[in-house]
Amino acid sequence: MAQGARTLLYKEVLNRLETESPGTKHMFYWGFLEKHRKTATSVSMLDKDRATLHPCSLCGQPTTAETCSYCKLMARAKVSTSL
Ligand SMILES: [Zn+2]
Repeated sequence: MAQGARTLLYKEVLNRLETESPGTKHMFYWGFLEKHRKTATSVSMLDKDRATLHPCSLCGQPTTAETCSYCKLMARAKVSTSL
């Protein structure tokens, strides 16, 4: 649950950045990925992952699936609350 709350917080911060200066969200996210990639030990593996990344069909954040894990989580949350 703590991790979910943190993800929501990040989402909120990114949304605020996007509102104040459109386009910042993706730059921020890619910057985060780049930073993460540089500190990772298996760079070649991450490079391969990055090559398969494309924008989430719902929120536009880089993801390896059609929708990112956040949107999948939200979709699942919606389903469980409508039951
Ligand atoms: Zn998404």
